[in-house]
Amino acid sequence: MVEEDQLSAYGGCIMPILGDEPSCPYECAYCFAQETGFEQGKTAEEQERIDGRIRATLDAAGGAIRTIFSSRLHEIFARGVHRGLAHIRALARYGKNVSVLTKAALPPEAISELAAIDQELSAQGNHVVVEVSFTSGVERPDLEPCAPKTRDRIVSVEGMAQQGIPVGICISPVLPESIVPTQEIESLIERTMGAIRAYTVARRFVFTEAIAQRLGIDPASPAIAPHTTHRRSLALAEQEKDTDWHVYADPRVRSIMQYIVHSGRRAFAQSRRTVEYLTKSASVSPRTGAG
Ligand code: SF4
Repeated sequence: MVEEDQLSAYGGCIMPILGDEPSCPYECAYCFAQETGFEQGKTAEEQERIDGRIRATLDAAGGAIRTIFSSRLHEIFARGVHRGLAHIRALARYGKNVSVLTKAALPPEAISELAAIDQELSAQGNHVVVEVSFTSGVERPDLEPCAPKTRDRIVSVEGMAQQGIPVGICISPVLPESIVPTQEIESLIERTMGAIRAYTVARRFVFTEAIAQRLGIDPASPAIAPHTTHRRSLALAEQEKDTDWHVYADPRVRSIMQYIVHSGRRAFAQSRRTVEYLTKSASVSPRTGAG
């Protein structure tokens, strides 16, 4: 039973929204953010309340909560790397692993700062795990008009791996072959496998009629199905009730995962699993990069 003053927790994770996260400016064509927008900004009182809820959740769960996820509904680096890093530092003060998902291409000084945070956390047996999100291995300004260039994101990923930060790649969403050919995804994997130990190949993404129109996907496709997100199965602090969506699930997800595994790397269908794997590997062989 989740009490009013606690956050939803799932699989050892919570995902608090602290209130300083900016909404995402990248305008990806496949993202429902364009229709719904994301709440941003909270009063000091609300921020204090969320801090209380996080602490109450951690106190009640004992050691069962291992990781705090940064919001997947915002881009924490959207207002500059300093604010993004400050947000990560705010999450790190709870003494757990911190998981970050971003499309930012971080400059070397920001990567060094992240490595320093990771090193501080590693003294307590925790880490900052970063996943960088891609939908293709080539530039796709038609799909990601305002996001950092694919090649810059790859350079950022390599820089993080070189500094020993546990870093993974999140391939999400896997769009239909007619939009993103398999070859483009395989080129991303080939280009990054020297630096990357683990990939998330996300199984589903939220699908709306507006997305169908933007991408030219047939809304009657069998790959689209109704889906209910149960409040307690997703570690979303703001989620107050079950949420009904339509989701798209590309049939190639399994073969892409097999491609990664045959390439000698790990593939997971959930970011949570990837983060768990990267955290454990980082603790076993600290600060060596992917090698
Ligand atoms: S980066 Fe993520 S949240 Fe932002 S528009 Fe793209 S898919 Fe949506």
